[in-house]
Amino acid sequence: MTEGSKHGLATRGIHGYSLKDAHGSPHIPVYDTTTFAFASTTDLLDVVDGRKSGSFYTRYGLNPSIFALEETLASLEGAEMAWAFCSGMAAETALFLTHGREGVVCIGDAYGGTLELLAKQLPLLGIKTHLILGDELERLDALLVDGVKLVFFETPTNPTLALFDIRAMTTKAHAHGALVAVDNTFASPVNQRPLEFGADVVVHSATKYLGGHSDLTAGAMMGSKALLGPVWTWRKNLGSMIAPVTASLLSRSLRTLVVRVRQHNAAAQQIAEAMTRHPKVSRVFYPGLADFPAHALAKKQMHGFGGMLTIEVVGRRDDATRVADRLKLFALAPSLGGTESLVTQPCTTTHHELTPAERARRGISDSMLRLSVGLEAVEDLIADLEQALR
Ligand SMILES: *Cc1c(COP(=O)(O)O)cnc(C)c1O
Repeated sequence: MTEGSKHGLATRGIHGYSLKDAHGSPHIPVYDTTTFAFASTTDLLDVVDGRKSGSFYTRYGLNPSIFALEETLASLEGAEMAWAFCSGMAAETALFLTHGREGVVCIGDAYGGTLELLAKQLPLLGIKTHLILGDELERLDALLVDGVKLVFFETPTNPTLALFDIRAMTTKAHAHGALVAVDNTFASPVNQRPLEFGADVVVHSATKYLGGHSDLTAGAMMGSKALLGPVWTWRKNLGSMIAPVTASLLSRSLRTLVVRVRQHNAAAQQIAEAMTRHPKVSRVFYPGLADFPAHALAKKQMHGFGGMLTIEVVGRRDDATRVADRLKLFALAPSLGGTESLVTQPCTTTHHELTPAERARRGISDSMLRLSVGLEAVEDLIADLEQALR
């Protein structure tokens, strides 16, 4: 870890790595290089055999642009180390193949790709996976007794912003010798650092808040050396390495992560409060609202309440669709965490594949709209919502 780990989060986003550029550049530039030369075979073997750290081959992650990124990612989550990946799904796949082979239980709603991987693909490899919803937590004990060794969840979840108690989950899982991995994409390390509450591994779709500009696809995993060490070979041979140019772009994004996320939080809070008062909105799902069911838990484990919120429009599916289509500043697009505001209607996008009954079972109504609040002037965003709701 760097000196930076003693510093505040904003400092760590900027000075979170120990590497120095050979030419004095204040940041590590793009080493768009596939291989690195050595002065001698002795020097080469020192790196290959792990006696010295150093650049070697980019697919292995042994590239200065990737080193600097990973050290910063680790520093932001307060982790011993981090690995970068070419996507969030690549990070999750490597996680499950390394630590989920004795069974994975996924709690609550999760990203569609994650659910597909767990429900349909890992079982093809003989890996037992279990998907349980938030109101079926009593099933978790039996699965842990049965020997499931990895508990995985998102908090807050998409799109209902349901929260899980990270400390309570880890206490329970650890009592059975199981690990806990949290997908921290929605919160970002600015708002929530699961390792502080006992979680073992954190994964991110860095495509979202960490990247923050809807211009890169990447993933990250943070945790202890003991747990991340064996992930390295999976990443290497799955070939799921981040490209150096993307690593450099992501490092640039991390320098502004704290200011960006604080503004996302403030704007989402203001919009959530405005929507609570709006006659055409029947419900607002946002952890920062005092009457939100999980508000107390949010205050306990989150440092900020995030830039994602969901509203339920008065009326039916078509009424919500009309609002989504009439929004001008909120672009109709999946994904989240960028500078520009986005809107999705879960029943037409993220949860389109589910039957209406399955959506209802998850508390997802057809008149819901999920908002990713961007960095535009918040009064413009509220005005846009008001004109569309009208
Ligand atoms: C987008 C997303 C993923 C997948 O990430 P990619 O970078 O698109 O592979 C995983 N989890 C969550 C919560 C996401 O929002």
